[in-house]
Amino acid sequence: MRPQHRLVNNVGYTKIYPMSSTADDTFCHYCGRKASILNGLSWDHVPALNVKVPKEFIAGIRKTLIRACVECNNMASDIAHIDYAERHLWLKTKYLQKYKKLILSEGGGSDPEKFSGFLKAYVSNQKKLYVEILGAIGFGIQSIDQIESEILNLRNSSRKLVGTVLIDYLYGTPEDDQEELEEVSITLRSEVSRDEEPYEYMDEYDFILFLSAEMEAGNIIKNQVDYLEWKDHHESRFTLLDLPLEPESHYETPWSVLAKLAQQNFGWDQESNRSGEYEELISLLAELMSEGYPVISLEDYLEIKRTPPAKFKPLIREVMREDPENYYGVSWDELSEHVIKKSHENFISVDLDAFLNILNSKKHGLSSVNCGMSYCEWVSNHRNTFKYLKLPVCPEFAYELTWAKINELTDKLALDNG
Ligand SMILES: [Zn+2]
Repeated sequence: MRPQHRLVNNVGYTKIYPMSSTADDTFCHYCGRKASILNGLSWDHVPALNVKVPKEFIAGIRKTLIRACVECNNMASDIAHIDYAERHLWLKTKYLQKYKKLILSEGGGSDPEKFSGFLKAYVSNQKKLYVEILGAIGFGIQSIDQIESEILNLRNSSRKLVGTVLIDYLYGTPEDDQEELEEVSITLRSEVSRDEEPYEYMDEYDFILFLSAEMEAGNIIKNQVDYLEWKDHHESRFTLLDLPLEPESHYETPWSVLAKLAQQNFGWDQESNRSGEYEELISLLAELMSEGYPVISLEDYLEIKRTPPAKFKPLIREVMREDPENYYGVSWDELSEHVIKKSHENFISVDLDAFLNILNSKKHGLSSVNCGMSYCEWVSNHRNTFKYLKLPVCPEFAYELTWAKINELTDKLALDNG
């Protein structure tokens, strides 16, 4: 069963509600967010249960329970904060770090209407998340000076200081309600002293996350038999995670539903991570293209992965998968279309007239260029000229013309110039 010291440690924790005048446990008192399917609420121990407080400080320390969302709870979990205020401010810095990229890009910078399918859903989710995270950071903060972070001095994609942007999201102040505390403390103590269930078991949301994490690790737990078998092999984790012995009756939810939720959550997680990665991959490939590294075929892709240009080496290692079609569930044609679209969005090239004139001039070794393949070959051999002349990554896409038509126009121009 459970180790004795945790049972003792858990006693004497007092529920406090720093961000509400009543005992409101419907939102996270660190970030202000309400419970959602993916971010539930639970009680956060401050100081954390396993933190050893030096003897000389014990007298001055209040053991508190704070209503916290899973994300805040997980981020702060075992960090040795002495009280709510310290943890509250610490979390603000952490959120800035965790979401630095999202904040600097103001939620990705892309217009969701430019995408379709899951990319569109991903981009609009990023925008929503951006606003949510700024709200979470501003919650319970009166002045930006309270937050310590270099990120406040950085400029976002609209050249605004992050600190300035955050000012609009500051909301509410923690209050000090000592008197009310004592009362709550007494109720909690009497709750705790009851013989049965002295524990707060992991809440249902965390339990679902636990099941999907195990699923990811290859342990499929879909009924009580699987569960008990897992428990036999992971006795210490079972205790440490405060897992209930009988989830079905504890959560009043049948195993079939628990298992299904876990599976959905697992799938969701995977998809959202992958669509983020996919976005990164598309941006990277688009940038490579505009630098004169054509990635038109899967062979080009694998070649660049094998011999990456120095400047892109770390990114390529991180983002380019061995088998992108399988990994992201897209065909090479789709992927390639996304990349070409992206590079034309991000980089401006010459207009059709100028392009035809350059082709017609036959300078820079362009005389042999008359199709997509010879164009790509020329680009990879003339990177600087390509960039200098601002030529398009894919002329067919840029001018909506086939190479046959481009050749025809170039020939005509040659005749005219005659
Ligand atoms: Zn929170």
